[in-house]
Amino acid sequence: MSDALIELRELSKTFDGPSAVTALRTTSLRIDRGAYVTITGPSGSGKSTFLNLLGLLDRPTTGEYVLDGTETSTLTEDERAHLRARSIGFIFQSFHLLADRTVLENVLLATLYSGVPRGERIERAMAAIEKVGLGHRVAFRPPTLSGGERQRVAVARAIMTSPKLILADEPTGNLDEKTSDQVMDLFEELNSEGIGFVIITHDAHVADRARRVLRIVDGTVHG
Ligand code: ADP
Ligand code: MG
Repeated sequence: MSDALIELRELSKTFDGPSAVTALRTTSLRIDRGAYVTITGPSGSGKSTFLNLLGLLDRPTTGEYVLDGTETSTLTEDERAHLRARSIGFIFQSFHLLADRTVLENVLLATLYSGVPRGERIERAMAAIEKVGLGHRVAFRPPTLSGGERQRVAVARAIMTSPKLILADEPTGNLDEKTSDQVMDLFEELNSEGIGFVIITHDAHVADRARRVLRIVDGTVHG
């Protein structure tokens, strides 16, 4: 199998409308399996557009995107959703947890439609929760947790499906520096076990911890 986890060829994204916006310009890029990449750039430069394309949440206007050996531009919506669920974990700035569900229930939701029997899903969820250091919080609800704990629940949810890739959009944007460092330590631990990371961040301290830093300016990816 190829060493490339992600291969982009001439990828671009234009949003139609009264005045069309080219949010991402032709990008050719390769990201290896198990890579650890951060993406920085000014507000409005195309970072989230780029991450949404990588996450198969949006389709490019032109170009090819090969993820884990699969050329994605010709896939149906169902096939894209299936590949996404199987290969990618997502982490967001605002955690995206359900407030009225426990930590365990939030993590279990990641595999709701996976076809895996419930008993096995619970075992896997407990292992993921232990892994992020929240074994003592399984029955808590997100509003009673600290910001760092909430983000660790999101990490547990993201690793439930054993993804090849975790995409994070400003994962430390709502955390103080110490907590942010703890979340980055966790990312690096998971990365050392083989999960590839692509992380969008405004925070130079976070960006500098990566082996590879890309910069987006006005829709053009540099580096
Ligand atoms: P960033 O995440 O770097 O702040 P975005 O990727 O969100 O930037 O946006 C890049 C550009 O694309 C901006 O000019 C934004 O207004 C535009 N854009 C993003 N999403 C849409 C959309 N769904 N429709 C139209 N324009 C969009
Ligand atoms: Mg953004």
